[in-house]
Amino acid sequence: MILMKFGGSSLADPERIRAVGRIVRARMKDRPVVVVSAFRGVTDALLQAAQDALRGDLRGLVPLKRRHLESARALKAPASLVEGLFSELEGLLRGVSLLKELTPRTLDRAASFGERLSARLVAAHFIRQGLKARAVDAFDAGLLTDDRFGGANPLPRADRAIRRHLGRARFLPVLTGFIGKTASGDITTLGRNGSDYSATIFGAALGAREVQIWSDTDGVMTADPRLVPDARPIAELSFSEASELAYYGGKVLHPHTLLPAVRKGIPIRVLNTFKPDHPGTAILAERSAAEPGARSISFKKRQRIVSVSSPRMVLGAGFLGRIFGAFGRHDVAVDMVSTSEVTVSASVGAPRGLAAAISELKGEFRVRVEEGRSVICIVGDGIGSTPGVAGTIFEALREAKVNVEMISQGASEINIAFVVRDADCPRAVRALHRSLFS
Ligand code: ASP
Ligand code: MG
Repeated sequence: MILMKFGGSSLADPERIRAVGRIVRARMKDRPVVVVSAFRGVTDALLQAAQDALRGDLRGLVPLKRRHLESARALKAPASLVEGLFSELEGLLRGVSLLKELTPRTLDRAASFGERLSARLVAAHFIRQGLKARAVDAFDAGLLTDDRFGGANPLPRADRAIRRHLGRARFLPVLTGFIGKTASGDITTLGRNGSDYSATIFGAALGAREVQIWSDTDGVMTADPRLVPDARPIAELSFSEASELAYYGGKVLHPHTLLPAVRKGIPIRVLNTFKPDHPGTAILAERSAAEPGARSISFKKRQRIVSVSSPRMVLGAGFLGRIFGAFGRHDVAVDMVSTSEVTVSASVGAPRGLAAAISELKGEFRVRVEEGRSVICIVGDGIGSTPGVAGTIFEALREAKVNVEMISQGASEINIAFVVRDADCPRAVRALHRSLFS
C-alpha cells in the first residue's frame, strides 16, 4: 500500500485535479490511500474570513463558495457537497460575528472546511473516473489528537483507531489532511502545511511501503527556487537531513512530518504533479551515496533573537535551566541557541508566550530582543566534520558583505545555522548557493 498526499498547488483548479486523477489511476495496483490539502489559497481565505467575521463582515465566504461551486460544476460533482458544508460554515461565522469572539478552537473549526471540501470534490471526481473512491474526514478515520488547537498532535491510540477504520477498506480512501478531532469531539488542525504530517501519520499507521508527497517542484531543492533560480532538486536525503530542513523553514515539509515515518522506517518521496515521471527526492533512513557536504540551504525570516544575560555574570549551574524553564512554562518554541560565558541567545519564531516569558526572565536577568532576523541553515550529513565547509560559508558571506550575528553548529554535525538581518537574507542565501552548489 502507498500513501499519496496532494498539496494545495496540485489541487489549484479542476485541470490540476484531473491531472491528480490520472496520477492516482496509474498507481491503483499499489493500493493507494490519498490525503488531500485544501485547494490552493483556501486555508488562508478561511482564516481571513474568520477574522473578518469577528469585525462583523461576512462577505469573505462569497468568493470561496463561488469557487468551490465552480469546481464542482467543472468536475461534474453534485453542488450539494459544497452547499451543505457552506451552510455549516456560514452558521459558524455568523456565531463569531454575534459573539465577537474567535477562539483558537473556532478558528480550527473554520480552517477545517478547506480540506473537507476538497476531499469531497476530489473523491467525486475519482468516482466519475471509475475509481471506487470515498471521501473520509480524518477524524472519522481515527485521527484523534490532543487539544492544542492550531498545532495539534495525534494521541498514541490514533494508530490503532486508524487501522480499525481503514485497515481493511475495500475502497480508495480520499482523506482530509491537516485536521483531526479531540477525544471530546472538537475539530483540531495540525498546524499550517499540516497535511504532510497527516500523510505520514496515516502512512505509518497503515504500514505504507512509501509516503508520496505530491507538490509543484521536482522534489526538495538545494534552495528555495523563488529566491535562487538555479536551485536544483536533490535526489536523496537522509531522515535527519530532511528534518533539519523542515525545522529550519525548508518549505517542502511540515516539521513534524518525519516523526511517524522515522518511527516506522517508511521512505518518503517528494514528487511533482506537473512532471509525474520525474524521480523527485527520496527521503530515506540512510542515503545510499553518503559523501558528506552541504545538501541544501533553508531559512526562516521574521525571527526574534532573545538574549539573556545575568548582571552577576557567573554562568553557574542552573542558569540555563532557569532560562529554558521560563520559555517552557510559557510554551515558547526556541529554535537555535548559542551561549557565551555571559549571555544565552535563542532564536524564537512565533511571538506566542514570548512577552510573558520575557517578563518572568526580567525578574532575574537582563533581556534584549532583536526583531527582523533570519535564521539561515545549511544542512548536510557530516557537514560539521568536513574540512573547509565552514570556511567556504563564512568567506561567501564576507564577500556578500553580510554581517553574521549568531552562529550555532549542532553537535549532530548535520547543520550549521546562523542569524542575519532579514534585509540581508536573500543576498546571503544566493551567495551561499553560488559558492556551495555551483
Ligand atoms: N491547507 C492547510 C494549509 O494551508 C494544510 C496544508 O496545506 O498542508 O496550511
Ligand atoms: Mg501545503
